[in-house]
Amino acid sequence: MAPQTNNHRAAWLQGPSANCEPPVKLENPFRLVLLGAPGVGKGTQADLLHQKRQACHLSTGDVFRAASKGDCALSPAMKAATDHMRSGNLVPDGIVWEMVRERSGCLHCCGGFILDGFPRTLAQAHLLKTLMTSENLALTAVVNYELPVNEIVARLSGRRTCTECKTVFHVTERPPKREGVCDRCGSKLFQREDDRPESIKVRLEVYNRSTAPLIAFYQDLGLLVTVEARGTPEEICERTVAGLENRRAAHSH
Ligand code: AMP
Repeated sequence: MAPQTNNHRAAWLQGPSANCEPPVKLENPFRLVLLGAPGVGKGTQADLLHQKRQACHLSTGDVFRAASKGDCALSPAMKAATDHMRSGNLVPDGIVWEMVRERSGCLHCCGGFILDGFPRTLAQAHLLKTLMTSENLALTAVVNYELPVNEIVARLSGRRTCTECKTVFHVTERPPKREGVCDRCGSKLFQREDDRPESIKVRLEVYNRSTAPLIAFYQDLGLLVTVEARGTPEEICERTVAGLENRRAAHSH
């Protein structure tokens, strides 16, 4: 398991001037995009993949949530972003792109990276592709997590997240040992505003309209690895790693 550091993800969450503790340099780091509807478990999988394979968990939603909590300076654009987020709608591409471009150093992380929640529109996917090509980087794969919609709704409405370390729990599927308290760091758990029923409906509609088309986009680029998101987080993670290893083996011949 990779060592947890206090300032892991600092440059991503607080902005590029923050210092991250560099992970061990890897020969073939994972450079991944995670796709799938909200609630399918991308954040949990990114966290587990980070523990297994170091790659840094880069979630655009976490940056916007950190901004709305006042963890970094709130520009007018970031203020607008957090208003969009609370309603369950997407933050406009221009604001998202500005935020990601500022943090493009994170794409060079020597442990690799796992993009969670970005790209979310075809425009963002094209921008990422252009940026990576210009920086001489290539994606290892794009993992698409699949789950029926009724299971997605059950997961989202029961989800609870740690205010500090962002570990994700579920009131019935993955309950913390003490109700409302994080097993990992002892901080309070909270329910995301956008996990309330009225926002969940909007987010699923937005996903089908704006993000689902990325599946065909990455399929055409030969990068897609589809993973069934059923079972325990550990089982899904094993399935993910197996899918990625199979793809790597198939492409190394
Ligand atoms: P997430 O944690 O990935 O579910 O993101 C939470 C919210 O942040 C989303 O519902 C959007 O409002 C906003 N957001 C995060 N990433 C993006 C993105 N790539 N494009 C647009 N909005 C985003």
